[in-house]
Amino acid sequence: MPKRKINHEEVLEYVKSLSFTQFKEVVREYEKNHSVQLEGELNSIIILDLQQRLQVLDVNKCCPSCGSPCRQKYGKRNGVQTFRCTDCEKRYTLFTGTILEKSRLHWDIWVRLLEMTLNDYSVPAMMNVLKNDYGLNGLEPRTVWQWRMKLIHALASLPLHELTGVIQIDETFVREAQKGSRELVSYLSNEERKPRYGRVPSKYGVMGSEFAAITTAIDNRGYSICKVTSLGRLTYDVFVSEFEEHIIEPAYICTDANNIYRTYCEMRNIPHYEKPSNYDKILSDNGYDPSTQMKDSIIQKLYELDMTDHIYNMGRLSYKEFKELKENNKLSLARVNELHADIKAFINVKMKNVSTKYLQDYIGYFCFRRNWRVDHGRYPTSRIDAEELFVSILKSKVNYTIAEIEETKLVLPTPTKKYLAELKKETATARYVTNDMKFEFEEEDNVANFNKREYLLSLPKSRLYDIAKRCGMKKYRKLAVYSLVSALLRQPDLRTVIYQMMRENKTDSR
Ligand SMILES: [Zn+2]
Repeated sequence: MPKRKINHEEVLEYVKSLSFTQFKEVVREYEKNHSVQLEGELNSIIILDLQQRLQVLDVNKCCPSCGSPCRQKYGKRNGVQTFRCTDCEKRYTLFTGTILEKSRLHWDIWVRLLEMTLNDYSVPAMMNVLKNDYGLNGLEPRTVWQWRMKLIHALASLPLHELTGVIQIDETFVREAQKGSRELVSYLSNEERKPRYGRVPSKYGVMGSEFAAITTAIDNRGYSICKVTSLGRLTYDVFVSEFEEHIIEPAYICTDANNIYRTYCEMRNIPHYEKPSNYDKILSDNGYDPSTQMKDSIIQKLYELDMTDHIYNMGRLSYKEFKELKENNKLSLARVNELHADIKAFINVKMKNVSTKYLQDYIGYFCFRRNWRVDHGRYPTSRIDAEELFVSILKSKVNYTIAEIEETKLVLPTPTKKYLAELKKETATARYVTNDMKFEFEEEDNVANFNKREYLLSLPKSRLYDIAKRCGMKKYRKLAVYSLVSALLRQPDLRTVIYQMMRENKTDSR
């Protein structure tokens, strides 16, 4: 049978089906046989191909400035079709505002870059693949790193899930002294404070400016939102502005004892399950022993004294009612604790050589992948996953220019001069009253702004009782929380007692 000659259309169909590498081989072959140079043509074909794909995806179907669909073709530059909006007269191309705007790599290369990013390739490993599989020689590591950063930022910027039902919320902290976070901006001048590399201790403690707080919320389906919210402790206003829009019809909000969440739930009348972070210690301090018959009655007694976990904003619940609601709705902090363990592992592994100024992007990316896993039962890793995600990125039109990457700073509220002066003064006091010249405040100490009332109100009742006892107060167990706090504030030894207790806690955990 004679060989059939394929026609022009069939050749084009065939060419379309080729991967970039295969296609490049065909072009090189053609160049060899016809003694021509096709490098320029190769680039125009890449650009043509990308524009066709963007068109199919309806990217920039309307004017990116005003949204009008009315436009005229306005000439081509280097193979890129320009349009002019007939409403606002701005000019644009299909690439305008997309991740491809300044980096028009072949589609296959972008998809491969994303696939490698999702599979945690290092920059040198990526460079190897690009060189061996795509013939991209002489790439700068910085360039490849920037491409990866663009992709991470884009995934981090995709729309967040709404959280609903039972939502657990808590903060976790990233220490500056941790590897990879070493560039966290320090607001104390060099003279006052040496950077905490390895074993060199900070002179004035490590709280406040030296911690980045990551606030996290997770619902009972497993969807989560994680944001770097502050240096030092979270404030009510920041929490509301960063999370309120994502919390839809919550059935319960579960947190540890923290005024921010208590106020938030109270003002919106949301049932609030609150579990003190030293729950286990409260139990064991009060004779709880899981092996005895007595265990339930001890918990009930502590519940009735308002010393353990509670549900607020639902009226006064009997212990039986409380227990039922807690079990039926699975009220706990287990999911958010698991999320924090994942974040710590992610930061320790993935952020080893990454500057903290990209922490926001990395946390957003972490959160995106974890939510994707909720939908798919696994993490995105395949080429098909990568291509689907790349389409989402193009459609979302998130772009991060190289200049933006280079100029990125971890933008967070900065501590005031007043706060820093306070930190210095209080550290000196704490060192004096504890007789420990190495005393430092830590994030667990929860002294956001050294306001004693706020500090006391953030403590669980059992802790307030401890303080009252140590201050030599009588009959403090009869007082409601607010009166107890007011009474404590009148105690002359209050500060000494608090700092001494903080020190004892540190020694406990050392
Ligand atoms: Zn327009």
